[in-house]
Parts: sequence; C-alpha cells; structure tokens
Amino acid sequence: MTTLKRRSLLLGGTALGAIAAIPAMQWLGAAIAGEGEGPVPGTFEITRTDEEWRRILGDDAYYVMRMQGTERPFTSALLDEHREGIFHCAGCDLPLFDAATKYDSGTGWPSFYQPLDNAVGELVDNSLGMTRTEIHCRRCGGHLGHVFNDGPAPTGLRYCMDGIALKFVPKAA
Ligand SMILES: [Zn+2]
Repeated sequence: MTTLKRRSLLLGGTALGAIAAIPAMQWLGAAIAGEGEGPVPGTFEITRTDEEWRRILGDDAYYVMRMQGTERPFTSALLDEHREGIFHCAGCDLPLFDAATKYDSGTGWPSFYQPLDNAVGELVDNSLGMTRTEIHCRRCGGHLGHVFNDGPAPTGLRYCMDGIALKFVPKAA
C-alpha cells in the first residue's frame, strides 16, 4: 500500500512526461503489466478474490504475485536449490520450470533459461522507466518475474524469477 501511494505521488509529479511516454498500444487496450500496480491484467483459468489470494499466499508472496512486486535479491532459499525437480507456481501449483534449466545468473534471483511448455504468459511492462517483458503463470496469472535476452545457451534468455512465487518439488528418489 505504501508503495502504491509513493508511486502515485511520483506519477503526479511527472504527469506530462508519463503521458508522453504511454505507448500507442496502451491506447488500443492491449494488456500492459506494471511493477507494484496490482494483478497482472487478463483473464485466467484460475481466479480467486483478493482476500483469498492474500490468505493462500501470505503477505510477501501476495505482494509479488498479485501486485507485481519484486522480492529483494539474494533473499530466496531457492537460490541454493540444486536438486533435480520441478519449480511450481506458488499460487496454483502449475509446473513452470525444470531444475535442469536453472542456472546461477549472479543477480540474486533464481534464474532459468527456459520455462516448461505452455507454462507462462508474457506482457509488456513499461514501468520504472524501462521496457521489460513481464512473466506470469498462464493458469492463475500470478506474477513471477521478467525475462531478459542476456541468458545462456541454448535459448539466450534469462527468466529472472521471484523465488517466493515458486515452490520446488524435488524429483522422487
Ligand atoms: Zn499459477
């Protein structure tokens, strides 16, 4: 909530600049994501009330997944998770990333070079004065992080994920 207020003030102070920066596609009604601005826009298979999400996720994951927040770097226990297994959505349990595609990007956020098939959706995110590609769970719309094009082979992509939005399920022995 405090973040929202602060952002509103910032926007108020630079209203003219902000209006000039709104890309054409926003006027056309295309879905655009935004850091800290609330749920990822769109229609998703799994929907819950705000109250339900807050209860299911807890405050920290709620802020990341339902407000499009970003967790502080180097805070996720999943950075040190190196077992075989699958990373699932913390909101709806959809399998999202195979541990075999995880690598150490040095950024402080769990990073992957590729999601599982039909696992994530993408949106343009023009918040914070830059253009990024937002990544969310395709089933519940929970915000997961962003993808950048400075990743390793074979894809060259870096899926920079908030660890708190993921749940690791180790491969059965
Ligand atoms: Zn999900």
